[in-house]
Amino acid sequence: MIADRSPAADSARPPGARPPPKPDTPVQYLPGVGPKRAAALAKLGIATAGDLLLHFPFRHEEHARTTIADLKPDTIATITGRVTAFRPRRHPRGPAAMATVADNTQRCAVIWFNARHVLNSLRMGCIVELTGRVKEYRGLPQFVNPTFRLLEADATPIKPGEASSIEPVYPAVAEFDTRAIRKLIMGLLPALLPSVEEPYPPAFRESRKLPPLRTAIERLHRPTAPADVEIARRRLAYDELLAMQLAVQMARRRRVEFTRAEPLRCTAEIDARIRRRLPFRLTAAQDRVLREIASDLAQPRPMNRLLQGDVGSGKTAVATYAALVAVANQAQAVLLAPTELLAEQHHRNVARLLEGSQVRHVLWTGGGSRSRRAELRLAAEQGRLDLVVATQAVLEEDVLFARLGLVIIDEQHRFGVRQRSVLREKGTAPHYLIMTATPIPRTLAMTLYGDLDISTIDAMPPGRAAVRTRVIGPSQAEHAWRFVRSRLDAGEQAYVVYPLVEATEAKPLKAATEEAERLSREVFPDRRVALLHGQMRPEEKDAVMRSFVAGEVDVLVATTVIEVGIDVPNATVMVVQHAERYGLAQLHQLRGRVGRGGRPGYCYLMTDDERAVRTARLDVLTKTNDGFKIGEEDLKLRGPGELLGTRQHGLPALRCADLTRDLDLLRQAQQDAADILRGDPVLGSPDWRALKTAVAGRFGGRMQFLDVG
Ligand code: ADP
Ligand code: MG
Repeated sequence: MIADRSPAADSARPPGARPPPKPDTPVQYLPGVGPKRAAALAKLGIATAGDLLLHFPFRHEEHARTTIADLKPDTIATITGRVTAFRPRRHPRGPAAMATVADNTQRCAVIWFNARHVLNSLRMGCIVELTGRVKEYRGLPQFVNPTFRLLEADATPIKPGEASSIEPVYPAVAEFDTRAIRKLIMGLLPALLPSVEEPYPPAFRESRKLPPLRTAIERLHRPTAPADVEIARRRLAYDELLAMQLAVQMARRRRVEFTRAEPLRCTAEIDARIRRRLPFRLTAAQDRVLREIASDLAQPRPMNRLLQGDVGSGKTAVATYAALVAVANQAQAVLLAPTELLAEQHHRNVARLLEGSQVRHVLWTGGGSRSRRAELRLAAEQGRLDLVVATQAVLEEDVLFARLGLVIIDEQHRFGVRQRSVLREKGTAPHYLIMTATPIPRTLAMTLYGDLDISTIDAMPPGRAAVRTRVIGPSQAEHAWRFVRSRLDAGEQAYVVYPLVEATEAKPLKAATEEAERLSREVFPDRRVALLHGQMRPEEKDAVMRSFVAGEVDVLVATTVIEVGIDVPNATVMVVQHAERYGLAQLHQLRGRVGRGGRPGYCYLMTDDERAVRTARLDVLTKTNDGFKIGEEDLKLRGPGELLGTRQHGLPALRCADLTRDLDLLRQAQQDAADILRGDPVLGSPDWRALKTAVAGRFGGRMQFLDVG
């Protein structure tokens, strides 16, 4: 995108003068930088002059600029003028400073409290720019604690009627603040802007009404009007999204055309055999996604499919069906779960389902002796295992499956994308089925999983009622506990969820460990209360979970370890403490644990913050049980990173694009990428060469795991 064309006039430079910067000039050699400040810039990911050019402001501040004579009380304004009087003042809150500033229209008074910085930098005679709220003091306009900026002595004063100014604000570090960065970039623009090359052919760019890249970059750094900033940002956002879509779609093509997989066929006989084993009739929605999956599996290229379905929609049954198709084709299937608890639950179900069958299945989790692990590895390698239910542990063992046909990943967002690639490298292109209950809005799925086909289970198994949800404050806590007791009296079970295992000084919240103690003493003295959290040893967790499943525990006090997939039909009520601390999608996941056994589920979202009771955010959960709507809402409110959790490594770094605002651009980019690749599948033509370089530069490192499902 930025070509390195050194000006031909290099030789005309007087001897000893610094050569003009080029895009690849290390920042260390820029005027006023040097090794120490270069290290500070490195923290911002800036190594070269070219990086600085692409270091965009994260926002723009707009100042109404006026002359002093035009200042109006109670407005925020910016003026420039000369300091005509300046004196320190003693003040109980620290050193203060008073000044008079004048332009060629009038003078104004200025006072700063806590003015150490001001006292160090301002002098009589300085030219300053002041921004702040205007008051009145003895008939003069006055600024109190304005921000100020020292200007060069020859700065032009503001003329009456001059337009407002827009100032870029940059991501910065302590050693190199936004002002220093701005100054550095302003100095570079004249030398660097000419080297910015347009990656798009003119007709393409114009038909999409995009400003030239050079103009867009300049406008972000040196804006003239607010509307220009947005036009420029959208141009750069489109560039990012198009590059991303090209990377994703090229990776997809590589997979489809160059990777082979064993076709796994689902004959009518296999289908009937599997259905006979299921304890229920599949819903129409399950049947539909199974047809999509079966048709993928029958292809000689790897399936790469995301199976989405709200909590409790019955993804596991679908996954089990797919696994049995693989086994019926003499291939091996692996079902990966994010936690041991879930792996155990899946394995329990599989074992029940396969009672009396020939299928060799095994639970493979982290623990176990060395010899047992070696034995499992050997069995997998020799093809003596058909269906492996496992945690990530199996990814860490060095297993080479004999005939790995299908890998199913449950709750994929809990795994890093990177980890998924490990297993693929071991086998020879198995089919992949990825399941998620985090309702990922389509737009985000397109970005994250552009290379995946998506199947959605959009209806619940019969007899499933919505979880009745209420947001309550401390004053209604007693009411909630009374209700929980009434459910327990009816022979049902309850969850109480806390955000922390233990409270800390930094987070003095109610926490699971102390509260389990208190609840069993004060609230449920005649009930069996147990504690479950992620820091317990696997055997302990297993024991607790087992007794909850068996109905030997009435109230399970837990952290979000119960968030994913735990299925105890007799649990009907849940209380989530400090509910305001969770994302909406996460709360929806949590409450999906109750109301699974045909009886209605109840969820109390409890918060100590009476304000949160009244705010609309949590209210969404009381109004809808539609996970996808909730996901969209969460995306709007908290952004994609939050929605998917911090462990998501798959989110592309987007600097200018904002997935909550730029959906139209995303759609356009997706369409354009498809059109471009249809005409030029490898971006080899001169028209797209610059674009190819840009894609490789931005997503080159990611291409190989974009390829992974
Ligand atoms: P998910 O993994 O999508 O959250 P599960 O697969 O755990 O959901 O299914 C939730 C519950 O619904 C389980 O108890 C399961 O046995 C049951 N179930 C799944 N499919 C059906 C169906 N077609 N009819 C009745 N019950 C079903
Ligand atoms: Mg599940």
